[in-house]
Amino acid sequence: MTLKKPQEYIDDLRAMAGDIDVYMFGEKVENYVDNPIIRPSINAMAMTYKLAQEPEYEDLMTEVSPLTGERVNRFAYLHQSKEDLIKKVKMLRLLGQKTGCCFQRCVGMDAINALYNTTFEMDAKHQTNYHERFKKWLIDIQNKDLTIDGCMTDARGDRSKSPGQQPDPDAYLHVVEKREDGIVVRGCKLHQTGMINSHEILVMPNNSLKAGEEEWAVCFAIPLNTPGMIYVYGRQSCDTRKLEGGDIDTGNKYFGGQEVMTIFEDVFVPWDRVFMCGETDFTTMIVERFAGYHRQSYGGCKVGVGDNLIGCAKALADYQGVSKASGIKDKIVEMCHLNETLYACGIACSAEGRETAAGNYLIDILLANICKQNVTRFPYEIARLGQDIAGGYFVTMPSEKDFDIPEVGELVKKYSATSTEVPVENRQRMLRLMENLTLGCAAVGYLTESMHGAGSPQAQRIMITRLIDLEHRKELAEKLCGVKENNDVDWE
Ligand code: SF4
Ligand code: FE
Repeated sequence: MTLKKPQEYIDDLRAMAGDIDVYMFGEKVENYVDNPIIRPSINAMAMTYKLAQEPEYEDLMTEVSPLTGERVNRFAYLHQSKEDLIKKVKMLRLLGQKTGCCFQRCVGMDAINALYNTTFEMDAKHQTNYHERFKKWLIDIQNKDLTIDGCMTDARGDRSKSPGQQPDPDAYLHVVEKREDGIVVRGCKLHQTGMINSHEILVMPNNSLKAGEEEWAVCFAIPLNTPGMIYVYGRQSCDTRKLEGGDIDTGNKYFGGQEVMTIFEDVFVPWDRVFMCGETDFTTMIVERFAGYHRQSYGGCKVGVGDNLIGCAKALADYQGVSKASGIKDKIVEMCHLNETLYACGIACSAEGRETAAGNYLIDILLANICKQNVTRFPYEIARLGQDIAGGYFVTMPSEKDFDIPEVGELVKKYSATSTEVPVENRQRMLRLMENLTLGCAAVGYLTESMHGAGSPQAQRIMITRLIDLEHRKELAEKLCGVKENNDVDWE
């Protein structure tokens, strides 16, 4: 069966958990699957398996793989058309709506697609056999419906120095030994989304490299429980609320994201799992394509989370009796306008996609960068408008425990009430959701990740500068005002 059930996915993690070194709050975590801080992130990932089981979502969530002839999860699939690219964006919006957070599986899908076409072109130039190796590995991933963590961002040490100039060469993950049977790597990948919720890690170089930096030009895949791997769980704003035992103050009752510092301490990788080793001339391609696919992804997932935020603002306006005010209505329209603009960008870079030499489809890289540049701004404005509509009580409201104690519970409820038709608890839950999305755990994914994930704003501006043809635009203007001859008006 190529489509795993969510419970089977969780069972996989449970089977692996004893075998991997995870640290959090200064301690080793023995059973991370049932840890209350971590579990919501597993629930979010499990949703990518659950929806793939449902006939209603089959078309968005699954596709028949040309590699295996079987129906596979879209997260493990190679896009075969512009329509596939569009369906990807729609799938991510759906999952953002269902979870209200980062559901983590997209980095793997984006890495798979980028590696598939880059290895093909690398082999054509260098007569290597990376593409066949990669295909073999991917068929196994598709057959087992495994989750992959696409892994790019290094620790990067002194940002003014390239990998080869760093005082500590481990600042960028690199090959420390080449053996007959494989390579040994050392380094650290930061901010790894969904890392310990994945089955395998697919590593790529952090940036463009030049001759002399071959040891950093490395791509490979390993299972999570490979010896030498160490995982240190990243904390999030308000994370310890999940330890308090209630179910209101967390805001999102079920789901959350996950980011992990991922350390490779002299890790052995056999050759059949190595997909680049020293080809510095293909590092730009792999970085631009992976980043491009992931910048497209944000035009789906962030929009779905934005749908929740808009819904939250609308509900609070209703509960608090201000929904008829024209100023409130206008702010909600603005939130929708910004959110749908992000979606339009995600769809546009997909609709303008093209076939690669390897056969899978690539998004329009310029439009994907425009998409992500907007993502670095609009969610902040949507969040600001949401907070404006919510009023200040979402940051001053007492704890859910204060609503229940005999000493002050009834008074807290009395002074938290709005309309008699709205249960106080409904308002309380919705205010906490606003807090979660704009200041709490989910703000990690919705705001700061919108800024820095898939590359910080300046990275997109560099790409836009590189891809926009300004001379062509200058010539258009020169023709129009008569600086240059204009044959377009020669009607004869
Ligand atoms: Fe997917 Fe969005 Fe999370 Fe990235 S931030 S992994 S695109 S849900
Ligand atoms: Fe991301």
